[in-house]
Amino acid sequence: MKFGGTSVEDAGAIERIAQIVTTRRTQGMQPIVVVSAMAKVTDMLLTSGNAAGRGDRNGALAISARLRNRHLEVASRLLSPATCPAICKVVDAEFDSLDEVLRGLAAVGELTARTTDLVASFGERLSSRIIAEAFAERGLNAVHIDARTCIATDAQHGRAVPQDDLIAERLAASVLPLSQAGKTVVMGGFIGSTAAGVTTTLGRGGSDFTAALVGGALDADAIEIWTDVDGIMTTDPRVCPDALRVKTISFEEAAELAYFGAKVLHPATILPAVRKNIPVLVLNSRNPENDGTRIISIAPHCRSPFKSIAAKRKLTIIDVVASRMLMSHGYLKAIFDVFDRHKCPVDMVSTSEVSVSLTVDSNEKLPEIAADLGDLADVKYEGRKALICLVGQNIRGQNGIAAQVFNAIRHINVRMISQGASEINMSFMIDEDDANEAIRSLHAAFFADPDPDIFDVEARTIAQTVLEAGSRS
Ligand code: ASP
Ligand code: MG
Repeated sequence: MKFGGTSVEDAGAIERIAQIVTTRRTQGMQPIVVVSAMAKVTDMLLTSGNAAGRGDRNGALAISARLRNRHLEVASRLLSPATCPAICKVVDAEFDSLDEVLRGLAAVGELTARTTDLVASFGERLSSRIIAEAFAERGLNAVHIDARTCIATDAQHGRAVPQDDLIAERLAASVLPLSQAGKTVVMGGFIGSTAAGVTTTLGRGGSDFTAALVGGALDADAIEIWTDVDGIMTTDPRVCPDALRVKTISFEEAAELAYFGAKVLHPATILPAVRKNIPVLVLNSRNPENDGTRIISIAPHCRSPFKSIAAKRKLTIIDVVASRMLMSHGYLKAIFDVFDRHKCPVDMVSTSEVSVSLTVDSNEKLPEIAADLGDLADVKYEGRKALICLVGQNIRGQNGIAAQVFNAIRHINVRMISQGASEINMSFMIDEDDANEAIRSLHAAFFADPDPDIFDVEARTIAQTVLEAGSRS
C-alpha cells in the first residue's frame, strides 16, 4: 500500500490511512506500507537546498524551521504523551542535521546533485517515522524500516536506478520476516542508497516506484496506490461533469494517458509490478469505499473503442516549410538537431513532403529555436494550442473510428493529426479555446452507452437520479 503526499498531509489524513490499513488487516491481508513525504514537503526542501546553494543561509534555515514546526505539530496531534517526546526528539535531531547540511551548503555556496538528494530525502525519512509510530499506537503492530537500507541504487543522483536483485535480497532478509510475523512494515518511498551508503532518490514522484519495487520483489498480491482522486476517469470531470471512473485499464493505455497529462501516476514507475503480472490499483484515501481503477497487463475486452480522453494545453505549433526539402535527405535530422541543442522536447510531429509541423510545450526558448530553424527553412509558430488524445486498445484494426472522431468535432478546426505511432492512441491539435468543447463533444459521442464492465456506470445513474429528483422537487 502506497500513500501519496496528500494522503499523509496532516494528522487527519494520517488517521484516515491508519483506518484504511486496519481494514486491510482485518480482511486478512498483510500490508507493507510505503509513504511519501507530507504534501509539498519535497518542494520546500528543494527550495531550501537551492537557497542555501545560492548562499542564502537565512532563507534556507527559515524554510527548514517551518518544516520542523509542521512535523512536530503533526506528531503531537497524532501521538500520546507517552510516545510523543521520543519521536519529537527524533524529528528535532533530523532537522538539526538538515540545518547543518544547509549551513554547510550556504558556506560553500554550491549545491550538487548528491547533496540535493540528501536534502530531499528528509521528507520521506520524517513522514515514515511519524506514521510508523502513529500506526503502532493504533494497534497496527507497526515497525519502521529506513528505505535506504533496502532500496539499493546506482549513483545517478536525482534519478538513481534501482538494483533489482540486491533489493529483492535485502527485502527478503529484512522486511519479509517482519511482515510474516504479523508486523506492519512502514517505509519511506522515493529514497535509496548506493553501495557506498550515500543517499539517493528515484526521481520526483518516486514513491510509486518504491511501492512497485517492493511489491514486485516480494510477489505481492496487489499494489495499491492511494491518492486523492477516485482513479482514472474517462476525462477530466471538471471539464465534463458526466465523466466516469474507468474500472479497469491496461498498463499500455494508462501509460499513454499519463504522457498526455492524466496525472494520476507515472506508469513507467509501476513497470516492476506489471512485469510480474501484479495488479496495480489506484484508490482514493478520502473515499476508501470506492473501487478505484485497476491497472493490469492485458486489457479486458471493451465494447467502446476508447477508455479515456486526455488533453494537454499550453502548447505551441511550429510550422517549418522548406521547398528545398523535396526529395532531399537529412532534413528532419537538421530540424531535430535544433530542438536537441535547445534541450526542448517535442510532443507531436506531422510531415508532408515539404513541411514539418511540430508541437512543443510553450517555453521561453521559442524565439531562439525559431531563429535557428530560420536558417534552414521558413518558420512560423503559434501558441495557445491544445492536444487532445483519445486512448483505447480497441482502435487497433477497427474501421471507421477516425470518421466517428472527426464527425464528433466537425464544428472545430483541427490543426494537426497524429495516429498510428502508438496503435492505441489517436491525437490531434486544436486551439486551446476549443479544447473543452471538443472534449465534451467527444465524450458525448463515445461514452453515451458505456460498457458497465469497464466503466462505473452506476455512479452516473445515481448522479442522474439525484439531479432528476432535484429538478422535480
Ligand atoms: N516526495 C517525492 C516527491 O514529491 C516522492 C513522491 O511523492 O512520490 O516527488
Ligand atoms: Mg507524489
